[in-house]
Amino acid sequence: MESKRLLICYAHPDDESFGLGAAVPKWIDDGVDVYLICATGGEVGHVPEALRGKYPTVAALRLSELECARQYLKFKDVFMLGYRDSGMNGSETSRHPESLAYQWRHHPERVTADVAAIMRRVRPQVVITFNRYGGYGHPDHIAIQRATVNAFEGLREDLEDGHVYAPQRLYYAAYPKISLWMRIWKARLKGQDPRRMGINQDVDTLQSLASIEPVHARIPIAPYLEIWEKASRCHASQGGGRITRTSRLLRRLLYRRQGFTRAYPRPKHSRVDEDDLFSNVKLKGGS
Ligand SMILES: [Zn+2]
Repeated sequence: MESKRLLICYAHPDDESFGLGAAVPKWIDDGVDVYLICATGGEVGHVPEALRGKYPTVAALRLSELECARQYLKFKDVFMLGYRDSGMNGSETSRHPESLAYQWRHHPERVTADVAAIMRRVRPQVVITFNRYGGYGHPDHIAIQRATVNAFEGLREDLEDGHVYAPQRLYYAAYPKISLWMRIWKARLKGQDPRRMGINQDVDTLQSLASIEPVHARIPIAPYLEIWEKASRCHASQGGGRITRTSRLLRRLLYRRQGFTRAYPRPKHSRVDEDDLFSNVKLKGGS
């Protein structure tokens, strides 16, 4: 039988751990080969001076954090696309010609081709990316999301033209509503602006909440929360080490399942009808 293969298309070193740090080990336990695209080196993420340590650049530090996370999230392979982190919307760094946001604005076909080439090489049946708002509106998240959708649709069209391979299912990882509600509530309590949250002050939690899409799949992750925490801790420069007793307890109580929006084939309904992303995937014939 053909192996189950899943490709995650994300933007920065840490997206994989913060977003899917419990789902990845669940898939590995299920015998799925999990691959990761990390489109940028995370160059402009804010890094506390004390953590710069022996690393010559922020990108080198962030790559080492991703390597640390790979001890826990056992990807079959990780593909770095080599774009530059764009930073916040409208910032100077988002106009840098090597940045993913700039490249996406000016050469979308190039970014799409990079993603499609990896899809052809890995031949995943299932592909995962951010939702249309990029989870929380980061321009790099939105760029890789659009490129992934374009690459996916291009391969589906090729299949109709007689090509032998195309991925079968496309999902968007769902941002948990409850965690957004809690962040908004905490921000208001502390007198902070819920539109400028996170270590890089680039998370608009109100718009993130408004951009949540219907969830069609929920996969059980409760046994993997400890691995999620360990992988997240690896990204200490991005706040991954700040896991309090309360947040751990809340995770145990509230994060028992990871939700996904099924983008292809898009259901007409908006209810949950899957607990396994491979339940309707054909494993023979490779299409
Ligand atoms: Zn990110």
